[in-house]
Amino acid sequence: MKPADRVQQVPPSGIRRFFELAEERDDVISLGVGEPDFSAPWAARTAAIDALERGKTSYTANRGRRDLRTAIADHVERYDLDYDPDEEILVTAGASEAIDVAMRALVNPGDTVAVHQPSYISYVPGVVFAGGEPLAVPTRAENGFALTYDALEAAGAADADALMLCYPNNPTGATMSADQLADVAEFVREHDLFVLSDEIYAALTYGGDHTSISTFPGMRERTVVFNGFSKAYAMTGLRLGYALGPADAIAAMNRIHQYSMLSAPVTAQYAALEALRSCEESVREMHDEYNRRRRFVLSRFEEMGLDCFEASGAFYAFPACGDDDEAFAEELLEEQGVAVVPGSAFGEGGAGHFRASYATGMAELREAMNRIETFVRGR
Ligand code: PMP
Repeated sequence: MKPADRVQQVPPSGIRRFFELAEERDDVISLGVGEPDFSAPWAARTAAIDALERGKTSYTANRGRRDLRTAIADHVERYDLDYDPDEEILVTAGASEAIDVAMRALVNPGDTVAVHQPSYISYVPGVVFAGGEPLAVPTRAENGFALTYDALEAAGAADADALMLCYPNNPTGATMSADQLADVAEFVREHDLFVLSDEIYAALTYGGDHTSISTFPGMRERTVVFNGFSKAYAMTGLRLGYALGPADAIAAMNRIHQYSMLSAPVTAQYAALEALRSCEESVREMHDEYNRRRRFVLSRFEEMGLDCFEASGAFYAFPACGDDDEAFAEELLEEQGVAVVPGSAFGEGGAGHFRASYATGMAELREAMNRIETFVRGR
């Protein structure tokens, strides 16, 4: 039996390789993973335990429990997003499922999906699995890794059908201001694209509040927004996310979701509902701790002479490290036992940088920074 062509077209994840190398040693400090070092807030965990004790182990409605969808609708009002819990929200197994289902439901074979890069490693494979054609749109450190009208134009995105957007960004930690987003929205309207906007790090911004592209004139009807509980609520393993979008897009996504997933994990839905009801304070504490680490990491990179732009979202820094980022990351791991991810794993525009996640305890982070400094000074 042979894998289908579209599967063979997609190489294995470049990030995994580094995890595997790192796992071979026990002295490694990993700044490689993109997941919180915290556990989910206790109240959310208790709600999950309680649901299990009450025997809540069945499927839910395909779109997710209504009380959860209502709570999500209330929650996203903070971003000026207004979505109807019955028609415009789909609860999924992580934002990952939402993104995958959106691509399969909305991208036709041969459609072009512009993907700004460097960005999260799932988008290009997602486009390919949906039968679409990814178009890389590089962003640059000089622009703070923001996507611009000009970058879209230069990459030929005027002829694309859709734009995959991710701010706050993984791997750069970049956020985009309302003015910058307005520029992108203008391009999108002018060229009649639709937008898939991954806003999973919306709650983790450090310079100002998150703005969704969906709030710009003429954008709501052409945008699907993704968010979830993995990052802000430290619930990665519980697998819960959601999509917000126009009723017809959500209905199309649900058509796939109802056959391929049936419903998102029920225990996680109870945890998520409680997270939205009572865990604001925990989110604030984790946010503030990430921010403290962010400032520490940025200042240490500066001290050791690594050029690093001011990452203002998510929990990543993306310093420059010379042309060969693969060699940098490999040697850093071999010589100092610190795992980071080479920027080129995240597509065009990522080369010459590495991603360091600061979702790591302060003591380990300090030690990791000392080791990186020793490595950089010895090079
Ligand atoms: N989008 C981005 C930008 C991410 O960084 C991640 C997790 N690494 C995901 C989506 C996946 O999130 P989830 O756990 O909700 O599937």
